[in-house]
Amino acid sequence: MVVVMEPGAPPETIQAVGRRLAAQGFQPHLIHGVSRIVIAAVGERRTADTLGLENLPGVEKVVAIMKPYQLVSREVKGEDSVVKVGRAAVGGGNLAVMAGPCAVESREQLGKAARAVKQAGAAVLRGGAFKPRTSPYSFQGLEEKGLRLLAEAAARAGLATVSEVIDQNSLDLAKDYVDILQIGARNMQNFRLLRAAGRAGKPVLLKRGLSATIEEWLMAAEYIMSEGNEQVILCERGIRTFERLTRNTLDLSAVPLVKILSHLPVVVDPSHATGDRRLVAPMAKAAVAAGADGLLIEVHPEPAQALCDGQQSLDPEQFAALMQDLQAMALAAGRKIAGLPEGGKEIAAAAG
Ligand code: PEP
Ligand code: MN
Repeated sequence: MVVVMEPGAPPETIQAVGRRLAAQGFQPHLIHGVSRIVIAAVGERRTADTLGLENLPGVEKVVAIMKPYQLVSREVKGEDSVVKVGRAAVGGGNLAVMAGPCAVESREQLGKAARAVKQAGAAVLRGGAFKPRTSPYSFQGLEEKGLRLLAEAAARAGLATVSEVIDQNSLDLAKDYVDILQIGARNMQNFRLLRAAGRAGKPVLLKRGLSATIEEWLMAAEYIMSEGNEQVILCERGIRTFERLTRNTLDLSAVPLVKILSHLPVVVDPSHATGDRRLVAPMAKAAVAAGADGLLIEVHPEPAQALCDGQQSLDPEQFAALMQDLQAMALAAGRKIAGLPEGGKEIAAAAG
């Protein structure tokens, strides 16, 4: 259930409600809205009874939450959450573009990628240092050295970073190097890892599982938030269907649906969703039209030489051209890529 406090309720009354909830077997989580504080009472115990909480001083109303997820739910927080990442922000009208190679391969490769994506207007540099590969014989990533190279290239270019963690060890290492911890599709239901990410004190990008329903995905986000981490970004990256001509099937309907169900920002990864660089630009544009708060796009200075996912990586020129188109799409859809000029002339000309 959710206890909505009156606007301006003093801290003592909020604490008193928190103590009452704890005594009833709930964990109280404070959610700071624009004008008031809401206390989400979560835990194993579910009850339709408001337990007399509405009679406590400072309480405006008590609302039962019927969904299995609570902290991620719109019912608990009506306003969109914005996740701040260094100077970048995901959500709140900003279209955050995260781009870079699938895997960190070398200082030279990453330096080139970082300069190219920064120049094109991206806010965050991606690069995997721990790669969860289908085959044990495929390139598994440079691990800590990869994280070091990522942090170095991003600092030089003036970008934030995102990189995947696959277990407790990689998480412990990565949290000292990266700005956003990525939980990949294969680990979306690794509940211990989700809890550990919830305790890491860093923003988390949570990818949708290979065959996960939207509800399972939101429940995975609930695991992270239940540990006190509110900085969760959801990432739709395609789901497994019968279709084999694309790597996955991009479920774009998930974007507006998740935004109805949850206050969390949603980004789309058209690279892993399609597995084909020819489809990345059209699906990236469609994602913006569908309401995505950002994009995660694979870009490699020389896709033909990539150690991982070259067939779906854009080269720097293709990425720069896409970013120009995306800014026009974003502006038309009431959002904006902060790192790019608004291209007023072209837009005015297009509007006629
Ligand atoms: C990735 O982004 O590097 C990745 C492995 O993606 P996914 O978990 O979506 O397959
Ligand atoms: Mn990849």
